[in-house]
Amino acid sequence: MKVAVVGCGPNGLCAIKNCISEGFEVVAFEQTSEIGGEWNSNLEIGPNVHSKIYEGLMTNLIKEIMEFSDFSYDQNITESFLTADKVQNYFLKYTEKFDLRKHIKFNHKVINVRPISDDQWEIIIKDLETDEYKTITSDKVFICIGISAPWMPKIEGLNEFQGKIIHSRDFRSTKMFENKKVLLIGSGASSLDMVIAIDKVAEKITWVNKIQETHGTSLKLELSQRTVEKTILIKRFTKSGAEFENGSFEEFDIIALATGYDFTFPFLSVDSGIAVYDKCLCQCLSYKSNSALNTGQTGKFFLQEKKCC
Ligand SMILES: Cc1cc2nc3c(=O)[nH]c(=O)nc-3n(C[C@H](O)[C@H](O)[C@H](O)COP(=O)(O)OP(=O)(O)OC[C@H]3O[C@@H](n4cnc5c(N)ncnc54)[C@H](O)[C@@H]3O)c2cc1C
Repeated sequence: MKVAVVGCGPNGLCAIKNCISEGFEVVAFEQTSEIGGEWNSNLEIGPNVHSKIYEGLMTNLIKEIMEFSDFSYDQNITESFLTADKVQNYFLKYTEKFDLRKHIKFNHKVINVRPISDDQWEIIIKDLETDEYKTITSDKVFICIGISAPWMPKIEGLNEFQGKIIHSRDFRSTKMFENKKVLLIGSGASSLDMVIAIDKVAEKITWVNKIQETHGTSLKLELSQRTVEKTILIKRFTKSGAEFENGSFEEFDIIALATGYDFTFPFLSVDSGIAVYDKCLCQCLSYKSNSALNTGQTGKFFLQEKKCC
């Protein structure tokens, strides 16, 4: 059986390792020059940068939950919440231990995946070093590409705002927030990290979140008086700031959106039977009953039968 793996972050590595141990013939494609995915970070920003790890990030899960069942963190690491470089080091060791590198083609970006028969897939790959295109076929495809596309809130006037707008995808350090009036939107883990970091340098932060709904009252952050929390929604943006649902208005220099990600599979042909609709992965189970394509993310998504494809 021939298996192709797209992406060599944690999910891709796990897919390679387990497919090899089943005796399958595995080839994996990774668009960057190293394994690790999100954890392979050098704090760069840009359209071709995959990792969104920011300065000072600590894992929000304990390593005992994050590790693979067949490979533990080094016993010398006693703390549970880790810096990103320790997580990346763990994946490097996993790769060496199971000798995964020889199955990976680095600097190879998958640009098209389509079914060519009931049990075969055609994959077009671009070699980013030579700019050459290659086509292969495979019996199974694991798509392990993580998340990349920022989810932008649909609020009137966002395009009219003349200050800076930054999504957490491009947040790496607090430098741009120094002495600025900041509107931060979001309630997830990234927004918590961002508010704690930006609070130390900004002139003022208005943090619009739904924390009271999502985390209950147990969460108490030690923030300065420069940070004001709001659960009131934004009605519209103007050139210089935001008008809130209660009629109040504030001016800002920067809008920071920690609003999460859209799941996209840009290289999947429409006849693959997989589509994303309203942040759900939809799979037309009727198309290929043996479900030859695995997104590596099923734990995070709903699998819906024929709802939207
Ligand atoms: C800021 C941040 C903090 C996080 N903190 C935690 C945490 O503390 N604990 C935790 O468990 N999880 C955390 N996560 C979630 C993180 O996404 C997962 O830990 C994990 O990295 C997901 O693994 P993955 O293999 O699915 O995707 P990724 O790690 O995103 O890897 C995907 C890989 O696919 C490659 N790729 C993408 N498109 C293509 C293509 N077309 N062709 C070839 N290769 C391609 C990418 O270059 C990348 O190497 C965090 C995520 C972010 C953004």
